Order: sequence, then structure tokens, then C-alpha cells
Amino acid sequence: MTEQHPDRALYEQVMVPSYAPAQMIPVRGLGSRLWDQHGREYIDLAGGIAVNALGHCHPELVSAIKAQAEKLWHLSNGFTNEPALRLAERLCDVTFADRVFFGNSGAEANEAALKLARRHAWQKAGEAKHEIVSATGSFHGRTLFTVAVGGQDKYLDGFRPAPGGIKHVPYNDIAALEAVVNKNTCAVMLEPLQGEGGIRPADKAYLEAARALCDKYGALLIFDEVQTGVGRSGQLYSYMSYGVTPDVLTTAKALGCGFPIGAMLTTADIASCLGVGTHGSTFGGNPLACAVALKALDIINTPEVLEGVRSRHDYLRSHLEAINSRHAIFSEIRGQGLLMGAELVDEWKGKAKDFVTATLDEGTMILVAGPDVLRMAPSLIIPESDIDAAMQALDRAIVTLTANRG
Ligand code: PLP
Repeated sequence: MTEQHPDRALYEQVMVPSYAPAQMIPVRGLGSRLWDQHGREYIDLAGGIAVNALGHCHPELVSAIKAQAEKLWHLSNGFTNEPALRLAERLCDVTFADRVFFGNSGAEANEAALKLARRHAWQKAGEAKHEIVSATGSFHGRTLFTVAVGGQDKYLDGFRPAPGGIKHVPYNDIAALEAVVNKNTCAVMLEPLQGEGGIRPADKAYLEAARALCDKYGALLIFDEVQTGVGRSGQLYSYMSYGVTPDVLTTAKALGCGFPIGAMLTTADIASCLGVGTHGSTFGGNPLACAVALKALDIINTPEVLEGVRSRHDYLRSHLEAINSRHAIFSEIRGQGLLMGAELVDEWKGKAKDFVTATLDEGTMILVAGPDVLRMAPSLIIPESDIDAAMQALDRAIVTLTANRG
């Protein structure tokens, strides 16, 4: 019997209209390839927005989830579980951290980090020390606290009043940071590379200055590595390549390679401020999620995979540069590892979504990072031949768009 596929028109009839998904509906994936409901094949350079770090249906992840699905799915927080303990132990082994809190998403990991920072300051210095400093252009999630800390006003429109005590400063601007961080600051929250804000890497000196200011004023330095983490940058976490260690790190997206999980990592001393009953999550530390994440982490955190990310970065970059030498369409190509951005030249500013649509028509998925930047976040183990084919599709899309413009 052939499978009945729901029609895309159903979306508008049954879903809250907060997204505008493509007309095609992917129904199956394998590695860096996806197929839609009509059997058309696509190359995936979007990776579920930097989530599918090992592509689709990686056999070892499929085995890990199947094995756990036959053992234990869920417990309340009245019990711990073996996959959660193993994953937390591994995360502590491979990072600066010695305590982990699990949630289900990047926003939840950040919410936990921000609440921890407030609680830590409250306990050590009292309520006046509550200010959070973050950067304009940053993105930290969609809960009210995380959109308020995120530096993109549009996400707060219509949702005010927002939580208070939050200050925004321009990214990569040391003087601006120095001007606002003081004894009342409880945390500075930064992405080592702004993802949604346009694939903008931090300068090393900027992160060093943030570290020094936090040390001077007893504030926590929080790195949001939800997008850059778990190998995406070419190191396990991006902070490792900068040599600047945060007090709190948040990770999600690629941690579960598509199974929802988020985690907040910190030190034992700081973690002690979240005593019993202060914070929680019904599903956080779920055995299914943790079993998949442990397998994913062990596959990704190997020299072969991480070196592979760095060499694929060079490979993808040289393709993008070749495209640019033919079409002069990008003003800058930037990024870390397999999180790449190509900023459009002035005459194409605001049109990044058109490139995504035209490239999809050519059988390849890419992303935007804001209105002016094309973003690519493929599987960390994507074959070079898929990068070749995807770049040919992007080239054809550019030819079509420029021809249509006349
Ligand atoms: N932080 C960063 C840096 C992100 O890129 C994202 C999502 O794009 C988030 C937080 C929010 O993660 P989630 O959508 O899993 O809540």
C-alpha cells in the first residue's frame, strides 16, 4: 500500500502561523541527503539549523536510540538515570565544567544559565547585583527572558514588558563592554560567534576582555555555544580555540543530533547556588535524549571528525570563493568550521531568503543568517562530493536570480 502524504496546504489550516516553511515536505533523510513527499532528492547544507551534525539517521545513533527505547524512556526528577549520569560525566571530562544541568533546548539551557547567574549574584552579593550584559545582534532563544537578553529587538515586539536589568552593547566592542560592566553586573552573556546575527566571529581580544571584566567585578561569563558547540566550530567547543574559558556554557542543537536536548555546564562552586527545588525541567535529562547525545558526543569528539570539520571548512570556503570570483555576489565569506556565512553585496542586501528559495529549487538546502547573509551548517561528516554538488546548485541559483533581475 502506498503511503498517503499530507498536503502542504494543511499547514495553514492546522498550524499556528509563526513559521513560513518551504512548500516541499521532507519525509526521509540519510546522511547529507533528504527526499521530499514526491521522491525528489536534496542535498542538505542546512543541517536542521546546525543540529544534524552527523547527518540524517546515522546508523550508530539509530542503534543507540533503539537500544534505549527498549529499556527506559522517562522517569521523574525523583530519580536519576544511567544515560544522564554517563553523559554528564563525559561532558565534564571533555570541557572545563564539573556540573551539568539538562533541559530540552537551547533556550532552556540559556534560561537556566541566566537564572543561575541571578541566583549566584543574589547569594554572594544581594539583589542589587542583578544586571545582565549581552550584545546587540545576539540570539539566545525564544522564552521571554532569553529574547530579552538576545540583542534583536524585533523578537520582543508585542511581548513587552520584558524582564528588566538587561543591557545591550555592540558586539566585538571592548570599550562599550568596559563602559557598562560594573559591580552590579551578575553576568556577561556572549556567543563566541553570533549565529543568527549573521555568522560573526568574536575577536579573541574581545572575549579576553570580557573574561577580565567578569573577573574584576565578580560576574559570570556565560558563553552561549548552542549553535557553535559539539564540533561545529572545528573544536569540540568554540571557546577552546579562543583559549578563553567561561564560567557557564550552554549547549544544545548538535548535542542530540536531532533528538531534543540542551545542557548548561558550569563549575561545582557556581552550581552549588542552584540548590534542591530552585530550578527544574520535567524532561531534562531524559534517558532517550541522553543516550543519543552520549553516542553523538563520542563520535564527534575524535581527532578524525574535528580535523575533518576543519578541512571541510577550507573546501567549502574555496568553493564559495570560486563562486564569488564568477559572480561578485558576496562582500565577505566568514565563519568557523562548518558554520559558514556569505554576506551579500549591497545590491543584493535584504534578499538572502530569495537565494535560499532559488537554491532549494536547484535541489540544495541552505539557510539565511539575517536578511543579508547566506548560511551553511551541513553535517560535520558531509562527503566532499556532496559539497561539490551543492555548490553547483548554488551557482545555478545565482545564475537564475541574476538573469531574472536583468
Ligand atoms: N542560542 C543560540 C546561539 C542559538 O543559535 C539558538 C537557536 O538558534 C538558541 C540559543 C535557541 O535554541 P532553541 O531553538 O533550541 O531553543
